[in-house]
Amino acid sequence: MSVLHIAEVTKTFSGGTHAVNSFSLDVADGELVCLLGPSGSGKSTLLRMVGGFEQPTSGRITIDGEDVTHLPPERRPTGMVFQSHALWTHMNVFKNLAFGLKLRRMPAAEIREKVEAVLELVGLAGYGDRMTNQLSGGQQQRVALARSLVLEPKILLLDEPFASLDQHLRERLREEVRDIQQRLGITTLFVTHGQDEALSMADRIVVMANGKTEQIGRPDVVYRDP
Ligand code: ADP
Ligand code: ADP
Repeated sequence: MSVLHIAEVTKTFSGGTHAVNSFSLDVADGELVCLLGPSGSGKSTLLRMVGGFEQPTSGRITIDGEDVTHLPPERRPTGMVFQSHALWTHMNVFKNLAFGLKLRRMPAAEIREKVEAVLELVGLAGYGDRMTNQLSGGQQQRVALARSLVLEPKILLLDEPFASLDQHLRERLREEVRDIQQRLGITTLFVTHGQDEALSMADRIVVMANGKTEQIGRPDVVYRDP
């Protein structure tokens, strides 16, 4: 069943750039779809519209049948991880993760339980007291992922989350994220310009060019016919 439905979404920036051009896509429950394409092909703009950080010029986005096209990010069941993690450096890891739950007025004991569980999930059990600026780049991205996951979004949005990491770490995190995604069964959109990354992680790949789908299919199909 389709959880995310993107229907003929267009984004034209002031100045006339057609970043996304009548783009449509259905994403099934638990599916990981990679948006692959060169810089400027509209991947990030599309992802930001799904997350509510950018308003479509036209078209409709629904999640679980609810029209979210004009809802702000905090009212959508989505969690976004950006290329640069944007953690709060003046707070420790625990507080970074607890923040969103506090806003939801969750009781402290429950917050603690959820934060500890998600830290374990991303391989950072026991790191709650660390300040985020004492962590390595990979650890910081794990915290950023945990901060999204702790709010239990229906859809996870990842915008080149490993771009700033070295090749070795990138490959490791790729596997970790895929493993976590499958364990949680969370529907995920993953933006990348790396074909390797898309091939190794995706259930389906959408190859974008000029704000449109150039090709779509399972990794083996897209790979054979580039
Ligand atoms: P990608 O993520 O594939 O690199 P983007 O979605 O970032 O592509 O960009 C698609 C196009 O939209 C590019 O031509 C880019 O310059 C343009 N663009 C992106 N954001 C803005 C903005 N805020 N204002 C104007 N143009 C933008
Ligand atoms: P605030 O000043 O924002 O109220 P607190 O320091 O009182 O934040 O922490 C809020 C809750 O989070 C408390 O229950 C506290 O015990 C708990 N907490 C804070 N840091 C950690 C941590 N590293 N590990 C586990 N629990 C923590």
